[in-house]
Amino acid sequence: MSSESRAQLVADGTWRLVLPLPFPELPSVNVYALECPQRGLVLIDAGWDSQASAEALEDALDQAGFVVEDIRAVLLTHAHPDHCGLVPMLQKRSSAKFWMEADEAAWLRRIPPERGTSYRIWWLQQAGVSPSNIEAILEALVSVAKFRTFAPDDVEITPFSDLVISGRRLRPIRTPGHSPGHTCFLDRTENILFSGDHVLPDITPNVGYYDEEHPDPLGDFLASCDALRGLAPDAVLPGHGGVFTQLDARLEEVSAHHASRLETVTQVVDAGATTVWEVARGLGWLADDAGVDYMSMAALGEAWAHLLLLEHRGRVASGLHGAARHWRSTGAGGSVVVSV
Ligand SMILES: [Zn+2]
Repeated sequence: MSSESRAQLVADGTWRLVLPLPFPELPSVNVYALECPQRGLVLIDAGWDSQASAEALEDALDQAGFVVEDIRAVLLTHAHPDHCGLVPMLQKRSSAKFWMEADEAAWLRRIPPERGTSYRIWWLQQAGVSPSNIEAILEALVSVAKFRTFAPDDVEITPFSDLVISGRRLRPIRTPGHSPGHTCFLDRTENILFSGDHVLPDITPNVGYYDEEHPDPLGDFLASCDALRGLAPDAVLPGHGGVFTQLDARLEEVSAHHASRLETVTQVVDAGATTVWEVARGLGWLADDAGVDYMSMAALGEAWAHLLLLEHRGRVASGLHGAARHWRSTGAGGSVVVSV
């Protein structure tokens, strides 16, 4: 995107700032800058941690008529590095307060940066990934290993009542699934929804497995879709892609997509796939051994989340065999009832 169009006025006093990401398949992330009636700006999310991203943010703020020091608060939809990367820079350069949902902060606390690698190894072993592929995936992750760029203790916990910041009123809505404590924000004055990565216009967000504290992330994600139904915002402002309308229609599409995937995962398990790795391979979501990369974790996590929901519904069962979890069909009916 050219710097000329880095800041777009998308609602009254609301700017969409498009910041670059280093991924060809996901080239940008949206940060929203909300002008406050009393003073300054509220940001929704904070972009990727890179020099190019920091310069793009300053450039975009400048186009909107602001500087970093004007930021009064940063509301984080979730803790993924494409949304939180510039938090340390903003902590240094502004006096802003930072807000994050309690489960999201708790998850970050459970997996401190020094445990990042051991956590990933545990996760990949449970998914049934071979030692050589674990090594290859960890190596590929080095380039994107910005697992954490700030301490969760440096953020406030988002309350679940209206947040009023310099006269701008926002209602947090808990939408776990894409991450343990993902949060959307409804601007009740403008009737617009900042949807983070929970609802996107062109792609479905990755829903993966995090830890034992969240035994059914896809079930959580679908319940979060239900929580947004009927809100009828005038516009949805997503974390990636353009502003869109017709939220309920998009939620229907996303739910139908997962219903269809649940059917396919069931068929793959019925055909004999045992581990998350085998299921992801059976679904065609993983390249062969030579092709594993950092995206492999997303493919594995997505297969895993579908298996967990099927287990929750009694369609499959699992148990640990050594370090790996093995899945099997329970034979409970040939079809899966999905409430959407
Ligand atoms: Zn994202």
